[in-house]
Amino acid sequence: MKSTHPMHIETIAVHAGIEENEFGAVVPPIYQTSTFKFRDADHGANLFSGKEDGYIYTRMRNPTVEAMENSVAMLEGGYKALGCGSGMAAVHTALAAMLSSGDHIICSESVYGATATLLSTIGPKYQIETSFVDTSDLDAIRAALRPNTKVILVETPGNPTIVISDIAGAADIAHAHGALLMVDNTFMSPVLQRPFDLGADVIIHSMTKFLNGHADVVAGIIIVKTAEMYPAFRKTLNLLGGVIDPFNSFLVHRGIKTLAIRMERHNENAMKVAAYLEQHPKVKQVYYPGLPSHPQYALAQKQMLGPGGMIAFELHGGLEAGKTMMNAVTLCALAVSLGGVESLIQHPASMTHATMTREQREQAKITDGLVRLSVGIEAPDDIIADLDAALALC
Ligand SMILES: *Cc1c(COP(=O)(O)O)cnc(C)c1O
Repeated sequence: MKSTHPMHIETIAVHAGIEENEFGAVVPPIYQTSTFKFRDADHGANLFSGKEDGYIYTRMRNPTVEAMENSVAMLEGGYKALGCGSGMAAVHTALAAMLSSGDHIICSESVYGATATLLSTIGPKYQIETSFVDTSDLDAIRAALRPNTKVILVETPGNPTIVISDIAGAADIAHAHGALLMVDNTFMSPVLQRPFDLGADVIIHSMTKFLNGHADVVAGIIIVKTAEMYPAFRKTLNLLGGVIDPFNSFLVHRGIKTLAIRMERHNENAMKVAAYLEQHPKVKQVYYPGLPSHPQYALAQKQMLGPGGMIAFELHGGLEAGKTMMNAVTLCALAVSLGGVESLIQHPASMTHATMTREQREQAKITDGLVRLSVGIEAPDDIIADLDAALALC
């Protein structure tokens, strides 16, 4: 994308990573190949030694993957991005690039269930210790620092309780300690939250969610802020091998073109749905950053460019009422995952966060009656009518 002035994010979403190609195709081709021919023996040797730039093997580099990576790097305002086979591959690869055995990490207690389980079960196998803390409390982060703390991993808004952590505050604490701040920006996308502007060093996404947005791909990405950090991350990804393939890269890149308008609609719809839920007599509590009742409403207003599509809520009837509701909805699909064009509803304690121990869930305030809703881009009145009919039975 060539331009004489800085582009807006809506324009970057449509154009970034789309380069000129042989036939002038508006959408670049999919290079569905595992390997690339060398012109001759010297060319092959030069590519391997780095004397010449080019493609060797798709686990190392692929033009379709790179086009998508360039798009996400530009969206986040980072140096470069590394496409991964899933969000979990991105979490694992980024941590493996930053940490060594004996290191300590501080992680949000309200975090994607598999991230928590990765850190608490696989981490110790490599002598990596994790403190799960309420990162919405900066003093709690400070109190958890150890001499060997190398990474602070913040997910905000946090999964599934939609708790918000102060990225700039966490970055200051990390940097004063010589540690790095990694932000999981999945719930917001680059359109609604700018972690690099707030001091983060590394951003990760599950692109399975809002970036792809169509619930048809599992993929992840790491974006690094500086050129100095990049080689270690690329080497780690190449060696661990958790790369994304060309076709999924193409699909994600296609999904990204509508990211900005999808996020606008997610904001609008979720705002309406959250306001509806909040006034409903059967609903005990709604957690949504766009509502003034959210405990960190002021921080949300300051740090986020929109409240996003994710809502959590608690029914007066607890778990039983939640189950009744999930069995009664017809438009909203009872399914895990989030961030797609379709509305999805699920029960964290028995589904996405079932691999956490009860103690971990209690610490993260994931009660048995909590319901999580990913509000899609359907007509908001239809979503509300579906919830209304289901709530009438609770
Ligand atoms: C889904 C998700 C992940 C993991 O991503 P996968 O693509 O499922 O591997 C990590 N973090 C957050 C916040 C997520 O929502």
